[in-house]
Amino acid sequence: MKLIFVSGGVISGLGKGITASSIGRLLKARGLNVSMIKIDPYLNIDAGTMNPYEHGEVFVLNDGGEVDLDLGNYERFLDIDLNSDHNITTGKVYRSVIENERHGNYLGKTVQIIPHITDEIKRRITSIARESGADVTIVELGGTVGDMESMPFLEAARQLGRDLGRTENVMFVHTTLIPIMGSVGEEKTKPTQHSVKELMAIGIRPDIIIGRCSQPICEAARAKIAMFCDVDESAVISTPDARSIYEVPLNLERQGVADIIIDRMKLMPMTGKRDMTKWESFLSNILSPVREVTIAVVGKYTSLADSYLSHIEALTHAGSERKCKVNVRFIDSDSLLSEGPASLLSDVHGVLIPGGFGNRGIEGKIEATRYARENKIPFLGVCLGFQIATIEIARHVLGLKDANSTEFDKDTQDPVICLMHEQEGVDDMGATMRLGAQNVILDKDSKAYGLYGSERISERHRHRYEVNNGYVDQLESAGWRFVGRSENGDTMEVGQLEGHPFFMASQFHPEFKSRPMRPSPLHLGLVDAAIEYKGSE
Ligand code: GLN
Repeated sequence: MKLIFVSGGVISGLGKGITASSIGRLLKARGLNVSMIKIDPYLNIDAGTMNPYEHGEVFVLNDGGEVDLDLGNYERFLDIDLNSDHNITTGKVYRSVIENERHGNYLGKTVQIIPHITDEIKRRITSIARESGADVTIVELGGTVGDMESMPFLEAARQLGRDLGRTENVMFVHTTLIPIMGSVGEEKTKPTQHSVKELMAIGIRPDIIIGRCSQPICEAARAKIAMFCDVDESAVISTPDARSIYEVPLNLERQGVADIIIDRMKLMPMTGKRDMTKWESFLSNILSPVREVTIAVVGKYTSLADSYLSHIEALTHAGSERKCKVNVRFIDSDSLLSEGPASLLSDVHGVLIPGGFGNRGIEGKIEATRYARENKIPFLGVCLGFQIATIEIARHVLGLKDANSTEFDKDTQDPVICLMHEQEGVDDMGATMRLGAQNVILDKDSKAYGLYGSERISERHRHRYEVNNGYVDQLESAGWRFVGRSENGDTMEVGQLEGHPFFMASQFHPEFKSRPMRPSPLHLGLVDAAIEYKGSE
């Protein structure tokens, strides 16, 4: 078993997830089978109950796991499907240990962080690595070295180094910040030195140090870090600001990161295989587009771009496919309501309403949807966006003025969106929604079928509410056709508005399965429609 731990120092938000994903991508390009694990040292069992402002969007996996957004980066960079075991949290670890204690599995013993918590962490990491059958598993340690909460995980990582054999079977990659100070632009290595010292105090000596810096690290700074942190000079790597996250693997490749890892771990890559050519053209389409469009994303978590990360990536994937730069304009739904849709949307080429929960911001989203429908601006609604489109059409086309979702108004006269039957009586909030991959059947004569090229598709879900089937006939008579339904026909999954160039919405989240070179069909549809709309203006 081969494990690579990726830790972070100095500050959070260094792009550790992108760095870890990029290393994974490079090893995969050599023909190696790579798996990835994210460790989040918080006490939540999973990310499902967290507000996007806490850690960015909640990513959803095929198995319904509601996980940290870094798992989205892993899936996108490596083009793999993960399951929820690949996100280990303090909550999951403590829950197992406490359950074991109650079962009497530690009978007679005092249950402690070392060895019981650390053993459980090790058990989880090694069993995932084993089950995934990977040649190498990359384990990203969330948080920053020195945080109290990450201590048990670092200790478990150190022990795994001892158990499995350092260097050949376990490597440590440490990512840090190299700030530039003063007018002379001197690269400062001291924060890196301190953070490595902290790591060494725990008993971990890094094999590779990756420094985030606004520019490539100069030779002098590289030599200094190598010397003070006791690593080879060639193992001091720099990740300067990139034009696209998809450029990072190529930056790392140029500095030989994959070679260092393969040599040290005695990995056996397929000889000569180093295939990044498709990736390079995917990237060059992003970096040198021949056209551009602007898509408005109307939501309520707009001050943190990470809240809608998978949508931004899906639009980037779609844009690359068409050599089109997709500018995303985030619009706060409340300000749209106060300023009026025309002032914020009149110059965009597409409108996207993403998922969301709760009452706040709903009316602004309905107004944005109405504006897109009436002005024939390409529109894509996702999950909540699908429900919003249904409410908007019910209100303004069917004339059901009070139409609403019972999520926002329990006593609405026209509950066009209502709680799913199986959700009635569900009180627990954690992992209780309709979650994960479910099949959807598309009408053969629909746009959705044209985009997917298939009648039966599988997409990921995360919702409690759905279209009220009592209103389906009325809505369809207004031109809001439900062209995608669940396998049993009971749940409306895709809506398509007749008489509009592109007005579509889905109950599922197509953004979670979008990949470089394999964009989400609905996002690609939106981008195509936006390009056409812009051309016709
Ligand atoms: N709040 C809505 C529901 O629970 C939509 C959820 C979402 O957008 N993910 O059905």
